[in-house]
Amino acid sequence: MLRGMVQLVALLRSNGNPGCFASRQRHEKLYFLVTTYHIYTALQSDCHVTVTESKQHQLSPDSTSPIEILTLRVESINPAVRPFNISLNSADYTDFREKLRAPIRTSPNVVIHQTISELFLETFRAQVELNQRYKLPSGQEVEPCIGCMQVPASTKLVRLCQTTGMDNESECQQCFCRPMWCLFCLGRWFASRQDQQRLETWLSSKVPCPTCRAKFCILDVCMVH
Ligand SMILES: [Zn+2]
Ligand SMILES: [Zn+2]
Ligand SMILES: [Zn+2]
Repeated sequence: MLRGMVQLVALLRSNGNPGCFASRQRHEKLYFLVTTYHIYTALQSDCHVTVTESKQHQLSPDSTSPIEILTLRVESINPAVRPFNISLNSADYTDFREKLRAPIRTSPNVVIHQTISELFLETFRAQVELNQRYKLPSGQEVEPCIGCMQVPASTKLVRLCQTTGMDNESECQQCFCRPMWCLFCLGRWFASRQDQQRLETWLSSKVPCPTCRAKFCILDVCMVH
């Protein structure tokens, strides 16, 4: 029955949902495999699809790649078709939207991060919030971020990873730069230095300070206060 369909989503680990499929066939049916035992079908031309929720799965330095799961509500104008929900990895969302012959609406409160770099920035921010804060020496003023010039430079690199016992063989080096970058610009820099094919290494990798090139890891990024 599923032959000839385009598989859009691999197995979703988080909720045991086997995935969903959309058909490219002439009859324009839309198939969603929602549970192991049920296949929900609806005509694409009759469908209203709405993204109702986006859930991020926060990560720690020793877990794998960041993941965002979207919940899509499928409603048909045909009263015989009961509404149903499907789960979709946001990395597959663009592909799914292109193949679907029905518009997708997004609930006003839902933000879809879509690109893996954007998604990573959220994880980066959440991780840095857990780190120790850096107290600016008295008399020192916070300057604007030299990356965007829009917001104050809010980060300082302090070699903390060894003291936290996360990495005794750390190759990180102490950076002596004053706070120069905002968290967003530093996170973008961090993401841009990663191997785009190996997401599982992102959080644990070391990258050079954008100014002095001293190596740092995510545990060394401190928010300035
Ligand atoms: Zn900035
Ligand atoms: Zn530096
Ligand atoms: Zn480090």
